[in-house]
Amino acid sequence: MNVRISSVDEIMSRVHERDPDQQEFHQAVHGVFETIGPVLERNPGYRRLAVLERIIEPERIIVFRVPWMDDAGQVQVNRGYRVQMSSVLGPYKGGLRFHPSVNLSVVKFLAFEQVFKNALTPLALGGAKGGADFDPKGRSDGEVMRFCQAFMSELYRHIGPDTDVPAGDIGVGSREIGYLFGMYKKLSNEFTGVFTGKGLVWGGSLIRPEAAGYGVVYFAAEMLATRGKTLEGRRCLISGAGDVALFTAEKVLALGGRVVTLSDSTGLIYDEQGLDSEKLAFVKELKNVRRGRLKEYKERYPDVVYLPCDPLLDHNSLWSFPADCAFPCATHNELNAKDAERLLAGGVDLVCEGANMPSTSAAVQIFLAQKILYGPGKAANAGGVAVSGLEMAQNSMRLSWPREEVDARLKLIMKIIHKSCLDIAHDYGVPGNYVAGANISGFIKVSRAMVEQGLV
Ligand code: NDP
Repeated sequence: MNVRISSVDEIMSRVHERDPDQQEFHQAVHGVFETIGPVLERNPGYRRLAVLERIIEPERIIVFRVPWMDDAGQVQVNRGYRVQMSSVLGPYKGGLRFHPSVNLSVVKFLAFEQVFKNALTPLALGGAKGGADFDPKGRSDGEVMRFCQAFMSELYRHIGPDTDVPAGDIGVGSREIGYLFGMYKKLSNEFTGVFTGKGLVWGGSLIRPEAAGYGVVYFAAEMLATRGKTLEGRRCLISGAGDVALFTAEKVLALGGRVVTLSDSTGLIYDEQGLDSEKLAFVKELKNVRRGRLKEYKERYPDVVYLPCDPLLDHNSLWSFPADCAFPCATHNELNAKDAERLLAGGVDLVCEGANMPSTSAAVQIFLAQKILYGPGKAANAGGVAVSGLEMAQNSMRLSWPREEVDARLKLIMKIIHKSCLDIAHDYGVPGNYVAGANISGFIKVSRAMVEQGLV
């Protein structure tokens, strides 16, 4: 056993030595490696087959220049990425992120997490992620379109409906997907299901925009049910004000919960009365149509608290309000150990992640030690990619399922993921630990496929 544990440690230190600057990637790999020891014990042959070494090395990394012209006639240059991490379970699948913080470490961590997340779904999907250090904020529609076209003029040769199927993520919503897909179609001269999250009239699936957020809440409801509880009347803290956050809020309200916070990159609102459908519609219009700031919520509803902040720098504010549940839905590492302590002190007994890796490693350890219900993003937010998989299936069949059917399938998939995390955690002697359950469940599937497909 010592030999195998030290071998995991050795591999981990090689990851640090080889790419010392990729902290987010180290964090994601460490998070998985610290839970899969028991699988390695049951499969001693994996060491000779270098399963771990292979699983952390992307099959392909594409880094490219994206030159484009802004409205003033000035040429701008950004850097584009696509990390095709693993295709053992299906075509590469994972979103594109446009945000100034995008770098190779961030894209690699997201691609690595995506492999395990996709493995948890009952669909045949490999794992990838991509994006650019481009900030769509404050850019005109024309600038965003020219950037997307320039980005796609390189990416198109690396993707395809049976090769790699991107989707949206932070900064890539329906507008960006439209421009990206349009350029792909022109360059390839094919109308195929190469993107998910497409517009409804050109191949998109009903429920895709809602999927990640709804799925998070279905997962939370399943977790609560294990303790005989429901969301009814529970006060919920939600961070973010993007697709994931707002559809999480919508489903929490539908299930009788109370949403008391939202945030964006410039501030947060605390609404003691709780949001209702009218307030939520206001935020959706504000963020998705006018692309405004949450500060306007305070102008519209003066009784609420508004705190200007960068949630990443000013950690304590959003997570300090008393509540029963927390749904971090903005970005990675937005919730640290201090925040975790504050959440517990404020009464939170469920944390369910809409964002990818929003809790730092130290925060996760606190949740696990206190044995609260903690749903890691790779399981809890898998509804987004699951409905992307359903969009691909509908595109292949050239038909579209009604809203109720997609929603019912999403709900069932979240139930299946929840049960498989719970069953595996129990089987491996860590009952109730969804982190171990998700990692082990994904790892078993990916490593088995890898071994069966030989050295490729
Ligand atoms: P959006 O771009 O729609 O929304 C992101 C929200 O978080 C915005 O309100 C944004 O503020 C805020 N935010 C983003 N980055 C920062 C930052 N560095 N500091 C402070 N606030 C920030 O993205 P999504 O809702 O699509 O994604 C949110 C999270 O969910 C990400 O971690 C993503 O990877 C994950 N996810 C997304 C899925 C999807 O299908 N879209 C599926 C599964 C997971 P502002 O409004 O000011 O920009």
